[in-house]
Amino acid sequence: MFKKILIANRGEIACRVIKTARRMGIQTVAVYSDADAKARHVRLADEAVHIGPSAVRESYLVIEKIIAAAKATGAEAIHPGYGFLSENEDFCHACDEAGIVFIGPPVFAIHAMGSKSEAKKLMGEAGVPLTPGYHGDNQDPEYLHGQADAIQYPVLIKAAAGGGGKGMRLVERSEDFPEALISCKREAISSFGDDHVLIEKYITQPRHIEIQVFADKLGNCVYLFERDCSVQRRHQKVLEEAPAPGMTLERRAAMGKAAVEAAKAVGYVGAGTVEFIANQDGTFYFMEMNTRLQVEHPVTEMITGLDLVEWQLKVATGLPLPLTQDQLQIKGHAMEARIYAEDPDKGFLPSTGRLIHLSTPVLSDDVRVDTGVEEGDEISPFYDPMIAKLIVWGEDRDTARLKMIRALADYQVVGVANNVSFLTRLCECESFANANLDTGLIEREKAFLLPVQYETPFETVALAALWKLLEEKRCSDALRVGLADATSPWSISDGWRLNFPAKRVMKFRVGEVDKPLTVVYQRDCFDMEMDGQLFTVKGGFVAGSVHELQINIGAFSVKGKVIAQGEYQEKLHVFLKGESHVLQWIDPLHYTISDHDHAGDVLAPMPGKVIALLAEVGARLEKGKPLMVLEAMKMEHTLHAPATGTLKAYRFAVGDQVKDGDELVEFEVES
Ligand code: ADP
Repeated sequence: MFKKILIANRGEIACRVIKTARRMGIQTVAVYSDADAKARHVRLADEAVHIGPSAVRESYLVIEKIIAAAKATGAEAIHPGYGFLSENEDFCHACDEAGIVFIGPPVFAIHAMGSKSEAKKLMGEAGVPLTPGYHGDNQDPEYLHGQADAIQYPVLIKAAAGGGGKGMRLVERSEDFPEALISCKREAISSFGDDHVLIEKYITQPRHIEIQVFADKLGNCVYLFERDCSVQRRHQKVLEEAPAPGMTLERRAAMGKAAVEAAKAVGYVGAGTVEFIANQDGTFYFMEMNTRLQVEHPVTEMITGLDLVEWQLKVATGLPLPLTQDQLQIKGHAMEARIYAEDPDKGFLPSTGRLIHLSTPVLSDDVRVDTGVEEGDEISPFYDPMIAKLIVWGEDRDTARLKMIRALADYQVVGVANNVSFLTRLCECESFANANLDTGLIEREKAFLLPVQYETPFETVALAALWKLLEEKRCSDALRVGLADATSPWSISDGWRLNFPAKRVMKFRVGEVDKPLTVVYQRDCFDMEMDGQLFTVKGGFVAGSVHELQINIGAFSVKGKVIAQGEYQEKLHVFLKGESHVLQWIDPLHYTISDHDHAGDVLAPMPGKVIALLAEVGARLEKGKPLMVLEAMKMEHTLHAPATGTLKAYRFAVGDQVKDGDELVEFEVES
C-alpha cells in the first residue's frame, strides 16, 4: 500500500479522501490556492502545498504545479477526486511520466469516455443500448439543424465534452434550434474549451439511473448496484438515492451487465459510473460513463457497507477487488441531499460569504455529513458553492426519507443563502414521498417547493420576540452589575409598571410583509398577540446555550434556535420545527432614510465576469428584457431590465470583472 498520497482537489471530496487514507494509515498531502489557505482540507491533511492564485486555471488545473507538489513531498500516488483534473488525459500522462500512480482508470479509458460522442460510438459497437440521435463529426450548424429536424423535437443539444449538467440545451421547436446551438457552443467553449456537440432525442419524463462499476488490474469487474439521480434541477442532481425505487431484480441484472460490458469495452480500472436514462417503462439507454468517483458515491457506500475510496486505493496498488459479484449485497436504503449556498427564492443564485453559524445533525452510522467547511469558513466565489452532502440510511425508503427530513432540520446555516428548506420540502412533497420520480419532479412540484408567499407562524415570531426580550434583559442586567443599588426596584428592568402592565408593539418584517406583535409584560411571562391570535408565552435559554430556547406557548412547549446577525442584531434567523425563517427586527431606535430611488438599479448579484451585452444602448426596453449575461461560479446568469425604461449606458464591457453589488448599467425608469 502507498505510504503517502496527494489529493489534487479541494472541498468535501478532498476531506473525504483524507478520511479514508488516514484510517488506512496513509499520509496525505493537500494542495491549495490562495482562497483556500485556511480551508478544511488543508487543516485535515498531514502536509499541504500552496499551488497559486484562487482562480482554478492558475491553481487546481495546473498539471505541472500538482506534479511538482507530489514530487516535492514524496507522494507516490495522486487521487484526483472529481471535477478538476480527474478526467484529464494530459494529467494522467504527466503522472505516468513522473512515475506517480494516478488513482483512476488508464489513459485509454479516460480518452474513450471523455467525449460523449466518442463514447456513444464505442458503446454502440459493444451492443449497449443508445438514445436515438446524432453523434458524428459534422459540426456544420445547418447540418446539425437538419439532424435535429430528422430526429424530431424535442431534442437536446449536448456539448460532447460536457459534464455537471452544463453545456446542454433543450430545443422544443425547429425555429429555436440556431440560437440554442450558439448558446450551447458558447458555454461549451468557456466551460470545456471544446464546442463539439451532439444531438439527442429528448426523452420525456425520464429517470436517471446509474450503475457503479469497479474493475481491478487483473481483469475482474463488478457492479455495485444502482443509484437513482432523477431528482434534478436544470440537469444537475439535487437528491440521490440507492437502490432505485421500483427496480426489479431482472432489470438490475440487465443494467449491471450492460455497465460491466461498457467498462470492459474500454479496459476500465478503478471506480466508474455508467449513466443511463430510463423510460418510465424501464427501458434504458446509455448516456455516458464517468471515469472517476461520483459526488453521490456515499449512497452506494451506505447500502453496501463498503468504502469506495479504500477500494480505489487497493486497486491502484494492484490488489484484486476485495469482493466478487456474488458477495455484494444491498442492505436498506440511502439518500443524499446536496446542500448548496444558493438562494431558491432568487432562481437558485449562488451565495457567497462567511458561515457565521453552522450546526450539523448528530453523526452516526445512519447519518453522515461530507463537507469541506466548518463554522467560520468562507464560501468563496471561486469554486462550486456546495456546503455539504448530507447522507442518511434507513431500513427502507420511507425510513430513510423521514431521517433525511429530521437531519435537514438539524442542519442549520447562517451567513449564506442556502437550499436546506427547499430540500426539506423536496423530501416532503407528494411525488418524492410516493417515489414518483422523473427528472421533471422539481418543475412539477414547483408550487409546493417554491411557494410565492411563505407562511410565518405565530410561534416563529414569538420565538424571535422572546429572544429579543431576553437579550434586552441580559443587556440591562449586565449594566446593573456592580451598581450599589443593584437590587433596588428602580434598577430592575422587567418592564414593571404601576397600575397597568407594560405594553409595546414589536415590529418584525418577513420579506416584504410586516409582522407586528403586541407584547404585554406579565409577572414571569408575556402575553403576545399577532393577527388576532393571543397566547401566553414564556421561556428561556436551554442550559449552556446562547442560541437555543425553550418556549412555552399556551399549553405547548417546543425548542427552537435564534441566531442574530447584523450591526444591531436586526436580522434574526429562526430555526423551529425543521423550518427556518429570516425575520428583520424593525428597531424604532435605528432607522435609515434613503433618498436614492432603487427602481432602476441593476446590481451584480455576485462577483463575476461580463460575457455578453444583449441590449442596445439608448433603446426603450420592456420590464424583464434581457440586458446582459454574467458568468459567475461557473454558470451563466442573465440580468434583466428592472422596469420598463431606457438603457442609458453599460458601465462594464464584455470581459470586465465585476464585484458583488456593482451597479452594472444606467437605466432610466419610465414614469
Ligand atoms: P452531464 O455529463 O452534464 O451530467 P448527462 O449526459 O449525464 O450530462 O445528462 C445530465 C442529465 O440531463 C441527465 O441526468 C438527464 O436528466 C438529462 N438528460 C440527458 N440526456 C437526456 C435525454 N436524451 N433526454 C432527456 N433528458 C436527458
